[in-house]
Amino acid sequence: MFHIKSVEETLRDLGCSVDGLSKQEVLSRSEHYGKNILQEAKKRTIFWIFVEQFKSPVIYILLLAAGVSLAIKEFGDAGFIMVALSINAIVGAYQEYIAGERADALKRVIKTFVNVLRDGHRVEISSEDVTVGDIVFFESGVKVPADIRLIETNELQVNESLLTGESIDVNKNPAYISTNADEPIGERQNMLYAGSLVTRGRAIGVVTAIANQTEVGKIAALLATAKTAKPPLMLRMEIFSVNISKMIGGVALLIIMLGIYQEMPLKDIFFLTVILAISAIPEGLPVAITVALSVASAVMSRRNVIVRRLSAIEGLGSCTLIASDKTGTMTQNRLSVEHFVTPEQIYSPSEHINEYLLLGAILCNESTFHKESDEFVFIGDQVDVALARYALALDESLFEKHKSLKAINSVPYEPVNKYSAASYEIEYKKLHFIKGSPEVILSKCEMNDDKKEYILKQVDEWAAKGFRNIALAYKASNESDIAKEGYIYLGFAVITDPLREGVKEAVKTTERAGIEVIMVTGDHPNTAFFIARELGIAISKDEVMDGVEISHWIERGAHKEEIAHKRVFARVSPEQKQLIVKTFQDLGHFVAVTGDGVNDAPALKFANIGIAMGKSGTDVARESSDLILTDDAFNSIVNGIEEGRVAYDNIRKVTHLLIATGLAEIVLILLSMLFFIPTPLLPVQLLWLNLVANGFQDVALATEKAEPGILKRKPRDPKEPIFNKIMMSRVVVGGLYMGILAFALFYTLLKFGYQEDAARNLTLLLMVLFENVHIFNSRSENNSIFKINHFQNKFLWVSILAAQGAHIISMYNPFMQSLLSIEPVSLSMWAALLFIAMTLVAVMELEKYFRKKYYSKSLTT
Ligand code: ADP
Ligand code: MG
Repeated sequence: MFHIKSVEETLRDLGCSVDGLSKQEVLSRSEHYGKNILQEAKKRTIFWIFVEQFKSPVIYILLLAAGVSLAIKEFGDAGFIMVALSINAIVGAYQEYIAGERADALKRVIKTFVNVLRDGHRVEISSEDVTVGDIVFFESGVKVPADIRLIETNELQVNESLLTGESIDVNKNPAYISTNADEPIGERQNMLYAGSLVTRGRAIGVVTAIANQTEVGKIAALLATAKTAKPPLMLRMEIFSVNISKMIGGVALLIIMLGIYQEMPLKDIFFLTVILAISAIPEGLPVAITVALSVASAVMSRRNVIVRRLSAIEGLGSCTLIASDKTGTMTQNRLSVEHFVTPEQIYSPSEHINEYLLLGAILCNESTFHKESDEFVFIGDQVDVALARYALALDESLFEKHKSLKAINSVPYEPVNKYSAASYEIEYKKLHFIKGSPEVILSKCEMNDDKKEYILKQVDEWAAKGFRNIALAYKASNESDIAKEGYIYLGFAVITDPLREGVKEAVKTTERAGIEVIMVTGDHPNTAFFIARELGIAISKDEVMDGVEISHWIERGAHKEEIAHKRVFARVSPEQKQLIVKTFQDLGHFVAVTGDGVNDAPALKFANIGIAMGKSGTDVARESSDLILTDDAFNSIVNGIEEGRVAYDNIRKVTHLLIATGLAEIVLILLSMLFFIPTPLLPVQLLWLNLVANGFQDVALATEKAEPGILKRKPRDPKEPIFNKIMMSRVVVGGLYMGILAFALFYTLLKFGYQEDAARNLTLLLMVLFENVHIFNSRSENNSIFKINHFQNKFLWVSILAAQGAHIISMYNPFMQSLLSIEPVSLSMWAALLFIAMTLVAVMELEKYFRKKYYSKSLTT
């Protein structure tokens, strides 16, 4: 109820002051209030996940089959169906559980930080450690960590949509005191609520509630129960599964008709169709996709990419263009001032500069600093820190002076404005300082055009050498509007920002992977071009366009053509950044955008894949993103693209395996019906085959590592379905070959006078061998089986050997012998069948060879 209280009352009630908490107080308060973490929604236990595995039509049919088996006293079959079902459910439940655990672990990696006053110093702490009574500093881009009574604001705007549903930013007013205790949250102008986003300005406030005591904490239970959306890939696969099931239903109908025509016992027809349908339906697919996506996000996090939205993994494989910002992503964002440049002179670091320039550098500055064992510790914007460090190095007495002065007025830096300003009263004189991009600062200074032109030329020259330039100006006047013109120009700071290591190589790698890289920055065109040329993004100055030109071309309605062949966009506004993204999308690109500031949020949301910076990025940018780079480095985007492609490949591998082996089983049974011979596999044998050939191997395939050359391929068309022509060709060739050969074996054996059971025994063994050999064929669509590393996936080997082992043991185990109607075979027979199974490798290799040779243009992704 602090919105009805004054700041003084609030502070008194909370037992704290504007000077912040001491270490002791923090300790005792933390003990009392606990950590600032929202109670997690009750998690599903592994038992419930297991139970939910049974909620599927496929399982219902199987349960029905088990029931029928029981009714007709086929206890062995009934038991076996139940065991098969349980194994399926255990595998599924375990995988889902692990995926959930992984997702939770990743969520914990994304921490937010806030600036608070502790022991009199402004320090950065994790939002989790904020406690009641803390004095918190806010700036644009910050996510509010707790409920706050505002003490001071400067041009503050907040987005409270999480709580109020209102998407328009609202203004705040710390002087407001409500008379209505039940006032709606959206109208409490003197409060900030946890979960809101600061979109503009600065503020100071005191924490009134944390964790579950916050307004959002009270409704957290509601928020947590909201279902998380399934990734589109999953939805597409579900539709795909339904379609497959319909086709299988059609085949089942055909088999039923053929069975009746042949006067097969109804019971046999029932079991055969049910089990065949179950075997052919790729019910392992959703689990395999879950595994592929969750493994990918775990691997990515180890490679500095945190996945916020699972569908982004799939999208990465389609990315054709990266619109990257410069500062921090391509450069280190470790700024340091090299020189000050005035119209008259270039100053090197130890040279004394104009007193106003020095004052401007340290007073028109939002960073904070204090001494720790004789060293200055800085917190704040890198530009501000660089300027403060330079000024303090020149004149250490500024430290005390800075402490004794308090700004009477200020305009905080906002990327859209490209400047910041502050006013002070020094020795009874009111002084205003302003700093920012030279163009903006000059527009606020009084001077003749010749001089202006001269200074801009100076700036151009330094920028062309890759430096960032921040201009400073001041005025002595009694007016209060500090944004008004009338400033006296002082000079500009020349700031270096070294390139990040390995970016040049990363840009090359991306381009080899068919992905274009463009630069979009708020910086000067010359600075941007210098960096872009260093990195090989642009070669000629013709590829650079600035915000003014963009506006110019928009007016003429020709911006699309102009933007299309540019590579570097400088001095762009947030709207222009978004427009650039849209233009490239219209040109057919699938665009990934990187950004760190509040100003980047619109473009991040608009992008096909929004990538935010984890270290230097604002919370607002992160909230708008799909992926977060924990090290802010461009190179990590390349890692993400690689892993995105791996995940997509793996999903295709699993799909291929499940559909091809399902087709083989259908072909085998259907052919036998058409040739009027007994069924080559009994229902239990089909069920067994499914268990030993697909049960674990599909999951293992979902965890494959990158194939060679994965970053040398072209991006995939985002509209292309998983079941494309390549998949069709491979499924048909592999499925038909397995099905026809197994049928031929069974048919021949019967013709040679084998008993039905003996013939089935060998056919089953051949199918088990076929399906396990086919796993190796599934490991690459385009690379030859002889060119891929067969030892990177241990789980795959284990699952295959275990399956073969289980089958061999069963051939010797009396119980399994009678259950599955199988018996041991001679070593030579075993070898002969293995040889037949191995021919499948040759067939699939030929398929790859001819597909690449004759259809490469129409078929390659
Ligand atoms: P980038 O796209 O490289 O991240 P920014 O949007 O951060 O660029 O900065 C745009 C411009 O705003 C800079 O070139 C600089 O002129 C100005 N600027 C940046 N930081 C500050 C600051 N703290 N104070 C004043 N001006 C700034
Ligand atoms: Mg920026």
